[in-house]
Amino acid sequence: ILPGPLAGGGRPATLGVLGGGQLGRMFVHAAQAMGFQAAVLDPDPASPAGRVADVHVATAYDDEQGLAQLMQRCEAVTTEFENVPAQVLASLAAHRPVAPGAAAVAVAQDRRAEKAHFAASARSSGIGPAPHAVIEAEADLARVPESLLPGILKTARLGYDGKGQRRVTRRDELAVAWAELGRVPCVLERQLALRDELSVIVARGADGAMVALPVQRNLHRHGILAVTEVFDGLLPARLAQQALAATQAIAAELGYVGVLCVEFFVVDDGSADGALVVNEMAPRPHNSGHYSIDACDVSQFELQVRALAGLPLVAPRAHSAAVMLNLLGDLWWRDGEPVTPDWAGVLALPGVHLHLYGKLDARPGRKMGHLTVTAADGHEARRVALQAAARLG
Ligand code: ADP
Ligand code: MG
Repeated sequence: ILPGPLAGGGRPATLGVLGGGQLGRMFVHAAQAMGFQAAVLDPDPASPAGRVADVHVATAYDDEQGLAQLMQRCEAVTTEFENVPAQVLASLAAHRPVAPGAAAVAVAQDRRAEKAHFAASARSSGIGPAPHAVIEAEADLARVPESLLPGILKTARLGYDGKGQRRVTRRDELAVAWAELGRVPCVLERQLALRDELSVIVARGADGAMVALPVQRNLHRHGILAVTEVFDGLLPARLAQQALAATQAIAAELGYVGVLCVEFFVVDDGSADGALVVNEMAPRPHNSGHYSIDACDVSQFELQVRALAGLPLVAPRAHSAAVMLNLLGDLWWRDGEPVTPDWAGVLALPGVHLHLYGKLDARPGRKMGHLTVTAADGHEARRVALQAAARLG
């Protein structure tokens, strides 16, 4: 699928995306920058991506008319919303190229299937999931081994940004935590002592060719990504290499097409660098890859466009050190009063790139945008990022 006007002047090819959030918006920006048109399906008439797309189909994700409209208009369809029903992707795929495919998205949607895939993939990569047990019925609670406590009970489906999780210290708290989560299928994971969190973003084409962004280091606050750092010398080379190899194995064994992010924990194992554990994956670009827009010559969203259109995937090159700060809705509030963040102060700093997603309602905890600080080295990027954080208060 080629960008731009067709010979003789036809309408450019249109790439569709299911989901109208910030990830969809940045996909639309990348697609349009290359000369594609973009169509978004999202029920919210004011969705961040819907507002910048050439076409916005404002229906539910499973609305047959909406899907038919999207399909008629688009040459290929991707997703930015990992909880789009997998059957929807499967039915679209009968008519148009769809990437990632329904089967891979279905695995990523369910922590049980996801962990089973990670465990299988550990046979080739040596990197597996955290010790865990599946909870689907009352009787499973009694069978939980003592070694999983203290642990984190996570709903198998629909969790994000730390939502749908309960910490459980003692066995007698399990039943309450499970009831609080609505007795839906869950996974209980042992709570690990984390030294670090990493993520790796790869793009894989239908021909199996794969390229990767540099390995990212992530800091979370209250279960939400707060900071991503990427620069030379940040991570032990062996650890970064293992994380990359494990991600490639996970993508290849899924037959994945598109952009995939895999999150890892680093835990102590007595070695100097620590050992990797696979946490979860996202079948789409990821918050921890946003720095690639400003710090790499090919962003994760351009990779998503190229993979979807079947265009060549070239290895991205990071030309700058980067520190990304997430901007949550809390920034617009102080002592219960609305405030406007000091953008002029932040933008006066060298190498600061501001991205706001067009959301007008700044609720605490809501992802409103991000800042990427680019610099010649990691030390400088961190120094400026600290200044920016201080100016934001
Ligand atoms: P979400 O889908 O909300 O991103 P995650 O499973 O990634 O869910 O959990 C969010 C964060 O909670 C992780 O990034 C990590 O900081 C912490 N966390 C999750 N699982 C564990 C664990 N088993 N041990 C220690 N910390 C954990
Ligand atoms: Mg996560």
